[in-house]
Amino acid sequence: MTATAIRFDRSEFSNQPFPLRLAERMRRLGTETAFEVLVRARALEAKGRDVVHLEIGEPDFDTPQNVIEAGVNALRGGFTHYGPSAGLPKLREGIAAEVGRFRNIQVSPEEVVVVPGGKPIIFFCMLALANEGDEVIYPNPGFPIYESMINFVGARAVPIPLREERQFRLDVNELARLITPRTRLIILNSPANPTGGVLEEQDIRDVVTAIGDRNIMVLSDEIYSRLIFEGQHFSPLSVPEFRERTILLDGFSKTYAMTGWRLGYGVMRPDLAAHIARLMTNSNSCTASFTQMAGAEALTGDQASVERMRQAFRERRDLMVDGLNRIKGFRCLRPKGAFYVFPNIEGTGWTSQQLASALLDEAGVACLSGAAFGNYGEGYIRFSVANSPENIQKALERIEEWVKARG
Ligand code: PLP
Repeated sequence: MTATAIRFDRSEFSNQPFPLRLAERMRRLGTETAFEVLVRARALEAKGRDVVHLEIGEPDFDTPQNVIEAGVNALRGGFTHYGPSAGLPKLREGIAAEVGRFRNIQVSPEEVVVVPGGKPIIFFCMLALANEGDEVIYPNPGFPIYESMINFVGARAVPIPLREERQFRLDVNELARLITPRTRLIILNSPANPTGGVLEEQDIRDVVTAIGDRNIMVLSDEIYSRLIFEGQHFSPLSVPEFRERTILLDGFSKTYAMTGWRLGYGVMRPDLAAHIARLMTNSNSCTASFTQMAGAEALTGDQASVERMRQAFRERRDLMVDGLNRIKGFRCLRPKGAFYVFPNIEGTGWTSQQLASALLDEAGVACLSGAAFGNYGEGYIRFSVANSPENIQKALERIEEWVKARG
């Protein structure tokens, strides 16, 4: 028997377009406005406008030279292949030692999972821990990826407001009231994006007490842990009875000016680490091997650049805060960490989004609306001070002139 050939008759097909049929969950996925504002600012620059970039959250410093050399040597030395999903043993050991030293605890390499940047730890933890309908408490205003990922996995995003009158430190009594039997995870971020707020040791201890013996995990985003200007960093990982319930997120992007290398890590109980490594196997296979070798050098090599950057950010913070406080309608706290300032702009009479857009379009200063960090960010805008003092000064002059011109 001969098979009948399927005849292709064009007339049977309509010329209708095929609408994109996205999965339902894509509607719930948010974004990070910094990248969109950057695109808008670049478009203005392409038309010949001069823009001061205070929108994007990345150090304006270059990766330290010793780290670059280590990366190049690794490429030449054959670190161009797949490696273990959880990370190269050398880097996991280095991270365990560093995290332990900095936080005064003992950490084993089995607790460490290396990933491409800090963000995947948020993504993977949400996928691994939050079922649909579970509640996840997250800081608001806060890094927008938290809310985006909670919604994406179908969990319920429960904001804990961070208020200016508390220097943007959460109120633990309010947190205690938000905890329910469905609470699965609480996200902490100190020093914080976008506020620069820093949780004190007592704040962390109070959070631990509020959670008590409930089986709730804390994702402690400590990506700015080395950028503290006043006070000391404290991690829930350092509280022995909370060790099993803490996931630490940290990385190389901010501390070593390595945003483009994509290198971060999580520290967590080994059984969870194995599951997060499985998510790595399913998504990235592994973090780039030569990047990891550069990261190992960053941890063990000369740390002078870390301190140099910290000092520079501190001076720029002061320049920006003092300058903003002289401008009518602006009121700005002096943040204790990270490289952002988060002025209250209610006195200008503008909404956050309107003001951020007008400053870009009319004054040539790119910044972000506070509302891009959640509802409780309305009334504020975020400036990154990861730019030169000359450019920060230029931005201040432009904002002041713009405000004056508007009466
Ligand atoms: N967590 C916070 C609070 C951040 O601000 C950022 C980056 O801006 C990240 C995580 C992600 O860092 P990475 O670039 O290493 O993914």
